[in-house]
Amino acid sequence: MGSGSIQMVDTKNQYLKIKKEVDAAITAVIDSSQFIQGPAVKAFEKNAEVYLGTKHAIGCASGTDALQIAMMALGIKPGDEIITTPFTFVATTETIALLGAVPVYVDIDPKTFNIDPDKIEEKITPKTKAIMPVHLYGQPVDMDRIMDIAKKHKLYVIEDAAQAMGAKYHDKLICTIGDIGCISFYPSKNLGAFGDAGMLTTNSDDLAEKIRMIISHGSKRKYYHETLGVNSRLDSIQAAILDVKLKHLDEYCDARNAAAEKYNARLKDHVEVPYVMPGVKHIFHQYSIRVKNRNAMQEFLKENGIPSMIYYPVPLHLQEAYKYNYLPGDYPVSEEIAADIISLPMHTELDDAQIDLICSKVIEFLNKN
Ligand SMILES: *Cc1c(COP(=O)(O)O)cnc(C)c1O
Repeated sequence: MGSGSIQMVDTKNQYLKIKKEVDAAITAVIDSSQFIQGPAVKAFEKNAEVYLGTKHAIGCASGTDALQIAMMALGIKPGDEIITTPFTFVATTETIALLGAVPVYVDIDPKTFNIDPDKIEEKITPKTKAIMPVHLYGQPVDMDRIMDIAKKHKLYVIEDAAQAMGAKYHDKLICTIGDIGCISFYPSKNLGAFGDAGMLTTNSDDLAEKIRMIISHGSKRKYYHETLGVNSRLDSIQAAILDVKLKHLDEYCDARNAAAEKYNARLKDHVEVPYVMPGVKHIFHQYSIRVKNRNAMQEFLKENGIPSMIYYPVPLHLQEAYKYNYLPGDYPVSEEIAADIISLPMHTELDDAQIDLICSKVIEFLNKN
């Protein structure tokens, strides 16, 4: 430990600690030959329901698919408006656009980097159907505010919890508060599969039944198709791996929190450290700070063998493929933060020596610039 090079995410060493258990789970699926919707999927869904405290947890092929399927289950139609944040991964806008719906952005809160609840109501029109908050970097959105607005205007809420499985808002797990929650198990996420995988959560029996049909070609009974569907089932091998790792998720989230605290202790006198909203459990999918000469800092860190990432350099309203009628300057907070945000290495295997080195290089750069 400490001898290895610093990585942005270290899924390899995380795997090695539970290798026996994971390998046995994979072999069991292969031995059973039940690769599609087999018992491994059912078992993982049941355990996820218990862990999250949700009535239904339904596996699917990716977090991106989960968002699309959630909107299909809620009957989102071409021309419907979905309120969301412009400062997130492209999947949000991509899936809205694929359904012919329209993303209506609301700028973010500069402290939390999440959608600013104070700015939502002014964007609601008769065409608005849903609010899609994203719990960015593992920090929960202020869900009480979102749910109040949704109730008042009769809107659905779809939580993009791709970066936040295990995060808590007061006493509730993220992704169990809105109508549907969407989770990604992309390998680098807090609960990561060994390939693409995702999940939808809901407390509604009706929505759960629709989701189960949609993920499997819109049918309940093979070759009888009652609704428009897709092929987006959770792979049995991924389910078996995820079921093993789910038992370690709290420990993984705690390890990330411990790393964040160590970063905070070293960096707090030099830079504004990540804000954590009162009453939430942030799970630090990313540890992100704002630095004026962000690109130069990234270069400097790289020269010193320290990786870093920019999540995300271009807000969605300015992406070439999804411009709609948006212009630079429309979402000033998102644009400012996209220009100065930088994420430092964050994973469950970071040791003190590595965090020390990263922090000393960050401070060295800040002192010179
Ligand atoms: C990762 C991610 C997704 C997409 O998940 P995939 O499993 O990669 O399809 C969606 N939204 C956010 C905020 C994400 O970080």
